[in-house]
This record gives sequence, structure tokens and C-alpha cells, in this order.
Amino acid sequence: MGCRGRDVRSVLLRVVAAEVDGVWSVVPDPHRRLPGRGASLHPVTSCLDLAERRRAFPRALRRSGVPDTTALAEYVAGSSRPPVTVLTGSGSDADEHPMRSHR
Ligand SMILES: [Zn+2]
Repeated sequence: MGCRGRDVRSVLLRVVAAEVDGVWSVVPDPHRRLPGRGASLHPVTSCLDLAERRRAFPRALRRSGVPDTTALAEYVAGSSRPPVTVLTGSGSDADEHPMRSHR
């Protein structure tokens, strides 16, 4: 859904239509557990933007009107950051002098 995805290294995220405070919304369903009709989206902001601009959600989820995608946008913004590679060197250099106290 949304883009035609060259960016497709990321796994598609399932999203579903849900009522949040009486407002129809599109919410992420990363564990694929929520009931109802779902759609798939790349969990990246560009794909979400495109889907919104093309009104892909109402079509894919068979609802009318424009959904609230705040929750989805937040989820996507959080998960689209590149994985953090921690290069502190802890555990290797620091521990290179094990206590060999036995004689
Ligand atoms: Zn996409």
C-alpha cells in the first residue's frame, strides 16, 4: 500500500482501522493481533505520507472520511530510526585483563 517500495528492506507493518475516542483512526498492529480489516504499510514516514496523500487508508480499510493517523505516525517515527549501533568497546577492551588469580 502507499508507495511501490524500493525502500523495502523494512518489513511491512500491519495497520488496522480502529475507533479511538470515537474517531476513526489507523493504528499500528505490529503483532498482527488486532481484529478487523487490515492493511500493510512500510513503517517509514515517507510511505505513511504517501498513503495519506493518496487517501489509501479509507480505500484499503473500507471506511469513509479521513482517519486520524496520529498513533501510527508516532509509531512510524519511532521505528524508522536506524538501529543504534553501540560501539563503546565495553566488554572487549575493558575486560581484557581477566583476574587469573589461581596459581
Ligand atoms: Zn511503502
